Amino acid sequence: MPRFVHYREDGLANWARLDGARATPLSGAPWLSASAETGEPRALDPGVWLAPAHPTKILCVGRNYGAHAAELGNEVPSEPLLFLKPPSAVVGEGEAIVYPVGQSELVHHEGELGVVIGKRARHLSEDEVEDAIFGYTVVNDVTARDLQRKDVQFTRGKGFDTFAPIGPWVDTDFVPRDQRITVSVNGELRQDGRLNEMVFGVPELLMRMSRVMTLEPGDVIATGTPAGVDVLVPGDVVVVEIDGLGKLTNRVEAES
Ligand code: ZN
Repeated sequence: MPRFVHYREDGLANWARLDGARATPLSGAPWLSASAETGEPRALDPGVWLAPAHPTKILCVGRNYGAHAAELGNEVPSEPLLFLKPPSAVVGEGEAIVYPVGQSELVHHEGELGVVIGKRARHLSEDEVEDAIFGYTVVNDVTARDLQRKDVQFTRGKGFDTFAPIGPWVDTDFVPRDQRITVSVNGELRQDGRLNEMVFGVPELLMRMSRVMTLEPGDVIATGTPAGVDVLVPGDVVVVEIDGLGKLTNRVEAES
């Protein structure tokens, strides 16, 4: 089960391949063919986990689970509703989600399956999709719902710094089927769905997205959230978990 982590140690960002509890350091991002092992497997406790991706963009889809579209009073769209989160929003496992006090009074969690792109891709055919995917990760598409509703488009509501937790690793063997995806806050279950409840599955999303824009290695696709989106407040600990993939944990802090 190859899993790759990205972390900061002694001030430097590094990648490693996980072998159980041990990690083998790599010379660069794992989707680069030039990346090579640079040391022996060793225990890893870096303190700072970085997102396991280098996104030039985080390309997201809205209303991709029927029950979630309905809970916000929306129809399921006839084609994927695409929007972007900026790379400046990315944080990793264990990092804080900073609550934009004074700007939003309604911040929501959205637990999602993330796809990490491994090859530059444009106009993907169905046969080419699998080859363009490096692996899968877990995403929390944190959203200022009040600002999303107020604005014509989603840039402000979805774009605050720290509103894109991604991690803890990227898994190159995971295959999305009907795995359970849950979000809990302070131990209380909030969102509970199955990946096969997506309206547009991963191949369909990547084909359609790559007709619009080039997908770059390290880009992250967020595939939509199941029902149960709910409020986050400073002090909360939010956990997004996908069975067989991993668990992404972040705490919410008030902006100081
Ligand atoms: Zn979302």
